[in-house]
Amino acid sequence: MTVEASALDAAALRADFPILASLVHDGRPLVYLDSAASTQRPTAVIQAMTTAYEREYANVHRGVHWMSERCTDRYEAAREAVRRYINASAVEEVVFTSGTTAALNLVAHSWGDAHVGAGDEILVTEMEHHSNIVPWFQLAERRGAAVKFAPITDDGVLDLEGFAERLSQRTKVVAVSAVSNVLGTINPVARIVAAARAAGAVVVVDGAQGVPHGTTDVQQLGADFLAFSGHKMAGPSGIGVLWGRRELLDAMPPFLGGGSMIGEVTVDGFTSADLPAKFEAGTPPIVPAIGLAAAIEYVEQIGVARIAAHEQRLTAYAHEHLEALTGVRLLGPPAAGKSGIVSFVIDGVHAHDVAYMLDRGGVAIRAGHHCAMPLHKRLGITASNRASFYLYNTPADIDAMLKGIDQLQEKFRKRQRRRRSAR
Ligand code: PLP
Repeated sequence: MTVEASALDAAALRADFPILASLVHDGRPLVYLDSAASTQRPTAVIQAMTTAYEREYANVHRGVHWMSERCTDRYEAAREAVRRYINASAVEEVVFTSGTTAALNLVAHSWGDAHVGAGDEILVTEMEHHSNIVPWFQLAERRGAAVKFAPITDDGVLDLEGFAERLSQRTKVVAVSAVSNVLGTINPVARIVAAARAAGAVVVVDGAQGVPHGTTDVQQLGADFLAFSGHKMAGPSGIGVLWGRRELLDAMPPFLGGGSMIGEVTVDGFTSADLPAKFEAGTPPIVPAIGLAAAIEYVEQIGVARIAAHEQRLTAYAHEHLEALTGVRLLGPPAAGKSGIVSFVIDGVHAHDVAYMLDRGGVAIRAGHHCAMPLHKRLGITASNRASFYLYNTPADIDAMLKGIDQLQEKFRKRQRRRRSAR
């Protein structure tokens, strides 16, 4: 067995994450099942950022002094770490942003305003996060274009026929998530890219839930743009990445204007800097970038494929046990088609009540529409619960959630019995 394929020791890795030792609500151990919203960070990341602030910090790119040059080296080394992690062909293709949302907005403004016009179409899917819907609606409004939604099946998988029916010569952009943040569905990005290419559309991949949980090779992926966030992959918040194909980024106008993104400014106007500075106006997220590099090194040491395999085992375990419960409806495809996300609804109990009651027992899960209102509408619900896993979760965490669900169902059953007997 290769190291890459061997199971990781999540129980041991937990020691790397100080926050997981927290006690909540009168001394209950924290069970953290909300990593799709934000993962926790290991000491290595916290330490890298602390060291940067304590000993290495100055503004980047502008100073001639030693501290600025050293900090610039650290910042640019972070770009190289990202390049390596996603196997981009050049660091110029890696643009630091504040997160996935900012990266998608950058593409919608810069590429979109230049290439999308009246009568054109933007094709998204019914399972997208609002970050991969709203910027396209805004672009469509600015340019007189239309946003189309590719349908999903009842079990939460992209309907490829429906997708193909909506793809046409009018489609200028196909924007799709690699993994649904609600259903956990792993989308067939390669097939989507092939179909979009044949129609002449560019493909924007929302990798917020994909890049942290599987090996990413942008050269193989074939897409034109990929967006993801540091805080969903053991890194800090405030840092994200837009990867784009160099020829596209080169031809795009800058999005935000300000310091650092210029070649020259005169009273007559300005010229833009070369890539990637052209898209990094103002002081960038310097220390978050250094933290992201530390996160990448941390997950690379463990092995992204091992992390994915571990999450897949947890997903299968959660599915098996949740399916066995009466009154629990699982959303999305079977476990094998999912990344480490399991969403469900419980008959007769509002999602917020479920999350609130589990939280009293120390179990942190998500409740609501998870920034995916069109998806919830399609599924005929207004809210759901979501448990999401990362490298530090164990089956015991899922057992704690199952125990909490059992207790709350029992409580609601008792309440119903009382109400019936009072009638
Ligand atoms: N896209 C998906 C699929 C997400 O899950 C999220 C965050 O939950 C985002 C986009 C937005 O990411 P951020 O808030 O880091 O910009």
